[in-house]
Amino acid sequence: MHLLLVNDDGIQAPGIGALAAGLKDIARITVVAPERQRSASSHAITLHKPLRARTVELDPAITAYEINGTPADCVKLALAVLCRTPPDMVISGINAGANMGLDILYSGTASAAAEGALQGIPAIAVSLVDEPFDYAASVRITRLLAEKTKACGLPGHTFLNVNVPPVDYGKLAGIAVTRLGVRAYRNTFEHRVDPLGRDYYWQAGEILPEESSADTDVGAVAANRVSVTPVRFDFTNEALLATLHAWTLRLEGD
Ligand code: MN
Repeated sequence: MHLLLVNDDGIQAPGIGALAAGLKDIARITVVAPERQRSASSHAITLHKPLRARTVELDPAITAYEINGTPADCVKLALAVLCRTPPDMVISGINAGANMGLDILYSGTASAAAEGALQGIPAIAVSLVDEPFDYAASVRITRLLAEKTKACGLPGHTFLNVNVPPVDYGKLAGIAVTRLGVRAYRNTFEHRVDPLGRDYYWQAGEILPEESSADTDVGAVAANRVSVTPVRFDFTNEALLATLHAWTLRLEGD
């Protein structure tokens, strides 16, 4: 098996190092990751400046490149140029922090997996929900899911979005198959003034407490269970198609 590992926390992040070290005995590994922290870069790609790939020495057994681009750039460049043979799977992570509910719209971790899936390669995004960032249990879960995905496959344009509670493997309450939940935030912008006297804003967000049903990713993680959500990017609101047809939209004069 040939695995392409990618992340959005940057090639030096401990999560991708732990993943590479923990999977190299079951697969040939290629790592292609951003040269720096690119969390919350969503599915952005770089079009107006050159992309450069630099070989990095992570482990003698692993081919690794750092890219001056986004997570989606990494997957695109890896599949089109850097991988001599196509990978059997794209694994994105292990992210330091949760990617649940509609957070996946902003997530570079999820988007890297989505890019693999859009290019016809089974993909898994893995996030360790919170501190302490000890990746051992997440690596073990990822191995299990990679082997299961290899055996069973995934339908087109679909990836698995996985969130692991921050406890030892033996303390996990199980694995739940879930749907995306809701994570609502109160947007916060801390106002500051720079040394030249100009205003600036530091964006953050405060998670609002919310009831989440047990069949969601948020609910599963709250119950100390690993959440596995099949995600497909299909934004069409099917239910509204008939309503819009009833608007009888016409160009003026038609
Ligand atoms: Mn991240």
